[in-house]
Amino acid sequence: MAPSQPDGLSDGHQETATQVIIIGGGLSGLQAAHDLQELGVSCLILEARDRVGGKLWSVPLGEGQGYVDLGGAWTNNENQPKVTALAEKLGLQMIRQNIIGDCILEDYGRFPYGSEPPLSREDKATFVEVRSRVEALCHTVTIADFDQVLAEYGHMSMDELIICMGATDTVRRLVNIWTTAMLGIESTQISSIFFLHYCQAGGGLLQMRSDDAGGGQHLRFRNGSQSLSYGLRDGLEPNTVIYSAVVERVEQGLRSGCRVITRDGKKFRCERVICTVPSPLLKQIAFWPSLSADKIWLSTHSELGFYAKVFLIYTEPWWRKLGLCGLSQGFHGPVSLTRDASNDQDGLFALICFVVGQRGREWAQKEEPDRLAEVIAHVDRIYGVKIPRPVETREQIWNEEEFSQGAPCPVVPAYCLRSLSQDQWRPEGFIHFAGTETSPVWKGYMEGALTSGSRAAKQVFDILSTS
Ligand SMILES: Cc1cc2nc3c(=O)[nH]c(=O)nc-3n(C[C@H](O)[C@H](O)[C@H](O)COP(=O)(O)OP(=O)(O)OC[C@H]3O[C@@H](n4cnc5c(N)ncnc54)[C@H](O)[C@@H]3O)c2cc1C
Repeated sequence: MAPSQPDGLSDGHQETATQVIIIGGGLSGLQAAHDLQELGVSCLILEARDRVGGKLWSVPLGEGQGYVDLGGAWTNNENQPKVTALAEKLGLQMIRQNIIGDCILEDYGRFPYGSEPPLSREDKATFVEVRSRVEALCHTVTIADFDQVLAEYGHMSMDELIICMGATDTVRRLVNIWTTAMLGIESTQISSIFFLHYCQAGGGLLQMRSDDAGGGQHLRFRNGSQSLSYGLRDGLEPNTVIYSAVVERVEQGLRSGCRVITRDGKKFRCERVICTVPSPLLKQIAFWPSLSADKIWLSTHSELGFYAKVFLIYTEPWWRKLGLCGLSQGFHGPVSLTRDASNDQDGLFALICFVVGQRGREWAQKEEPDRLAEVIAHVDRIYGVKIPRPVETREQIWNEEEFSQGAPCPVVPAYCLRSLSQDQWRPEGFIHFAGTETSPVWKGYMEGALTSGSRAAKQVFDILSTS
């Protein structure tokens, strides 16, 4: 329904005015607010939840007993410069990911970190070949040649692409672990071109999958990744963040900027809006006038994978005593991957289990005690021993969060990639877009979120300072 005063906007009742309204207090929104305020631009963040951080959520286990990261956790200090600079500025202590000891592949057994899994000779040769071809391809796809790339690969899922490369059944199952662990979507369901492009943004498949120096999973934060969000928020002017402010409507006037209305009826006037909500959630905000066809198309068709984390917490790292590093991969569900999520300094020893993709969706339908029992039983099978019972557990299902609806990053089907390449997240009138998925680097990661926040803030500042 059209608002009653589309151009004048103000109905004169209790509107809070500021230069820029930022929708969302995740990392991208906080970074945008930080940059704007540094440049002397006033802004407010409207955050739907009662906390900042969005997909970063670090939960303390008890006084001095460390934190578990229910959302994003890992970074590295070689090719994620914005996260690194912020962590250093805030004086955050980092934990290096444990890679000492063997990994395990379900059905195949253990192998040293960094070497090939103990597959049959044919599977191993094919796996190495497929992995290096995917790595090479992800560095060559460019959005500039989109038509050509789409014509070549646009019709293929990731599974179909690797079948063309000669993947055996085992290799197909291994590649399915890549796509589910990285995006919560099965390799049969994800567009090959999207996946290649996603890998390109993270510096390549190998870099993203690595737990070693420079890899996507090299470092964690001793006090949890949400410390980044708290640090950014604490550097903002007081009361910049308005909590439990669910934006439901954004109206633009022809001359007079925007009016933003929240679920509880609060109204805000501003010259510009920076919207940081993940694209599938855009359709829950009524934009007037409506967004362009490209954005509507993206918002309607981009999808969030299934992503849950289950922490098994112990008094000691039993896997290390077995000569294992905690990294394991499972084929038969519900667990796709485990990693060591310990914080030795605080006496926290944990295995994090990733329950992702279609098997995760089915698992999530069960009652909580059954879900936990299934996870533990599967880790028993992966490790080939009855693992010690955890003293404590934590579970987080991101698809059940109203303001995330899945994680870690929206996935765009091939038939929408043209809209994305045309649109490039361009502003719509007075509305600008940020959020990790809009970043050309480390899309889906904290680094991408910070990069996008700074880009949007600069865009807005440049316009405001010339107008
Ligand atoms: C389980 C999991 C594992 C991950 N692992 C890693 C990792 O190891 N390393 C890494 O770098 N990244 C990881 N990520 C991704 C990383 O957490 C995200 O890329 C990053 O936090 C996204 O920040 P953002 O600001 O773009 O979006 P978000 O954090 O989603 O922020 C958007 C904000 O908008 C708010 N919002 C939504 N709708 C509305 C509305 N209508 N009105 C007002 N506010 C609204 C939300 O509450 C949220 O706070 C992981 C994420 C998850 C969930």
